[in-house]
Amino acid sequence: MGSKKNDLRTADRIRYAISRYKGIPIETDLSSYRELLEEIHAFDVACLPDRAIVDRMVELKSNLHMDRISKALPEVFALIGEAAIRGLGVEPFDVQILAGIVLHQGELAQMRTGEGKTLAAVFPAAMNALAGRGVHVFTANEYLAKRDALWMGAVYQRLGISVSFVQELMDTTAKRKAYSADITYLTAKQAGFDFLCDSIQYEPSRCVQRPFYMSVVDEADFIMVDEARIPLVIARETGPRGHDPKMIDLCVRALEREKDFVVDRNRRRCHLTQAGERRVEQILGCGGIHEQESIRDYAAVNVALHAHHLLTLDVDYIVKNGKIELVDEFTGRIAERRRWPYGIQTALEAKERVEIQREGTVIGSITVRHFLNLYPRIAAMTATAVSAAQELKKFYDLGTVIIPQNCRGAMVNLPDAVYRTQSSKLAAIIHEIEKTNATGRPVLVGTRSVKESQELSVLLQNRGIEHRVLNAKNDEEEAALIAKAGTFGSVTISTNMAGRGTDIKLGGPSGLRKEKIIALGGLYVIGTSRHESVRVDDQLRGRAGRQGDPGTSRFFISLEDDLIARYAITEFIPQSFLCPDGPEPIEDGMVAKEISRAQRIIENQHFEMRKTLNRYTELIERQRKELHSLRRDALFSALLPSELTYRCRNKISEISKEQDRERAITLLAFQFIRSIDDFWSNYLAWVDTVREGIHLRRLGRQDPLLEFIKDATEEFETGITTVTENSCGRFQKIDMTAAMREQTHIKTPSSTWTYLINDNPFPSFRISLLGNDIGIAAAGAARAVVVAVFLPVIACWTLAARLLRKLSRE
Ligand code: ADP
Ligand code: MG
Repeated sequence: MGSKKNDLRTADRIRYAISRYKGIPIETDLSSYRELLEEIHAFDVACLPDRAIVDRMVELKSNLHMDRISKALPEVFALIGEAAIRGLGVEPFDVQILAGIVLHQGELAQMRTGEGKTLAAVFPAAMNALAGRGVHVFTANEYLAKRDALWMGAVYQRLGISVSFVQELMDTTAKRKAYSADITYLTAKQAGFDFLCDSIQYEPSRCVQRPFYMSVVDEADFIMVDEARIPLVIARETGPRGHDPKMIDLCVRALEREKDFVVDRNRRRCHLTQAGERRVEQILGCGGIHEQESIRDYAAVNVALHAHHLLTLDVDYIVKNGKIELVDEFTGRIAERRRWPYGIQTALEAKERVEIQREGTVIGSITVRHFLNLYPRIAAMTATAVSAAQELKKFYDLGTVIIPQNCRGAMVNLPDAVYRTQSSKLAAIIHEIEKTNATGRPVLVGTRSVKESQELSVLLQNRGIEHRVLNAKNDEEEAALIAKAGTFGSVTISTNMAGRGTDIKLGGPSGLRKEKIIALGGLYVIGTSRHESVRVDDQLRGRAGRQGDPGTSRFFISLEDDLIARYAITEFIPQSFLCPDGPEPIEDGMVAKEISRAQRIIENQHFEMRKTLNRYTELIERQRKELHSLRRDALFSALLPSELTYRCRNKISEISKEQDRERAITLLAFQFIRSIDDFWSNYLAWVDTVREGIHLRRLGRQDPLLEFIKDATEEFETGITTVTENSCGRFQKIDMTAAMREQTHIKTPSSTWTYLINDNPFPSFRISLLGNDIGIAAAGAARAVVVAVFLPVIACWTLAARLLRKLSRE
């Protein structure tokens, strides 16, 4: 294997050195990894017969203790590299092996799109499979799970390692089989749902997963940051709800905007005014709205206001076959298995006058973040981690290591083109597409929403420009369409996150006229507006320039864009820029700078919000773990808390036969598990109610978190005592003679379903951008000091460190 060294640009090095100085865990120094790389290259495995590779892996697997596994890394990695050459016909690049080492050591490897992360992940996966405890590789969607398992299967097969993938619709037997493979590809959400299903089973044989060991997360920032707060939920059917959703809906329709309620400026909250409160009391005839008995109605009114004024038909959701279906904000497609929380779903059903669906009782729930943290070993990779590095460290203890590009192509990121109005921006985009398309150079346009894609499509049609609009029904179709975006003369319009993980080859999958496209400058990626998250922008940019190909990216912005309007960015821009509209872009870096600043602030706000949310969920997660371990002990080994067996000792000792006594203990264990489950679902409902109440307490200026922790701790401790009492009581009532004769079974709740909860349940934690001006100014000044004073120091220090390293190596 060759060992070409390729380093980062000096400017990037300095940028990352500054980040490190600020305490952000970004590593660019790969020297220790490169030493291992040399050792890997030193192993000569090319002459081994196929069988010898498998035999050696089997031998290592049986002889290796996990604490010694790292010592075997050079040899195992060499074998994996050889298996890749023979199985896929490609030699892993050094950067892929380096990323593999980074992943094995439990860090996050940032690798540009198209650099081959799929193969890089094979190294830690195969290496850790030697422990025989199962490795899960998490992909961004189900289609990619199947694709990657089948694709990389050729490598695993040559190593004698079994591989499988999990899909939502598989039955229990197929899932169990998939989870028992050495390596399993699947989405983190699916693994989380299966975990929740396992955690309500009453028979060990119905569980599909083994205890967790290691996970490798692909597209890590998407899964570990953007999706991390989403609670996965398992629910079962329940009886009637406390309020009448149709009545509440009529009440909300009768309220007048501004007079009875106000919608928050950044459009994330609405609330009743005092006049509104009186009006609601009048319409519902429910007495004082803040009184205990009206609290549910009041909460339902707030939720219905949200449904009416913050959620828009055909943008946030659609009505299909008489049902409300959510639209995924990133892909613009229907989000499968997703619901809004806290009755918003019901309120929407009432708003759209469709049949009101059953409401479930949540019997288990876990956020993606907490779920991922159940794995003792975790590794991650993505193209865009730097701006989330701090968060990844805090929540997952993952340091970000930047892997340099294998071969740096002529990728050009042009500065944003800024226009005053939406219409002049659109005209400029169409002009740019038309001009580029005339040469045959492929264009990929990334939009923020399906609606925007369609609008653009109409404009292109009017100009007679042939194009494809991505409105696929599923991930596979979408990937197939996106894969063609590099074809000569093609124009593809899609939402900016669609088809993530798909390889866009110049010339399309067949590579037709690739040389010509390269001469034209490769794929041209156009963004129609900047996203709140710089990571999403960077993902779009990364679509071009795969494997050292040339490419160009450019964002077109107007001062009327949603991002700019919502965060009032124009207030920071001198008036002279806002004057007459024209076809020429504003020639000033000011707007782009303000947007970057806003993105940083928004990202920080989101981080703060997630930290706050985390403080709430942390406690619940600790409690869930405590109960879960009691439940597991009872289910798998009938180990019960001593207090429980002590209290039931008389009834057990009455039984004469030893075998029957054991059976009685199992029955007691069942009662215990049932009581735990009952308590937990009641407790989760209680937590929801308290959370709703927290909104009110915030107004009352109490510290909501402290209040919450105090209440929840008390409630949980009382609950645990009740669980013991209940299981004891139920056990005492069992007719032992009959029970010994019959095979009594306690069944898992029959009608259960799993879903994701959408949206942020604590929208009020969002801080206004303008409200933070003083903080921003201070941060700006501090930054200036860092740059002026510390930059030279850092530069000297980096040079000195390099010198020292070199000396110590020699
Ligand atoms: P990423 O996930 O980093 O965006 P992929 O794993 O999808 O990248 O790989 C991108 C492309 O690079 C694929 O077409 C793949 O076949 C190709 N590729 C990956 N590794 C190598 C290699 N070592 N040699 C040649 N091509 C490779
Ligand atoms: Mg990928």
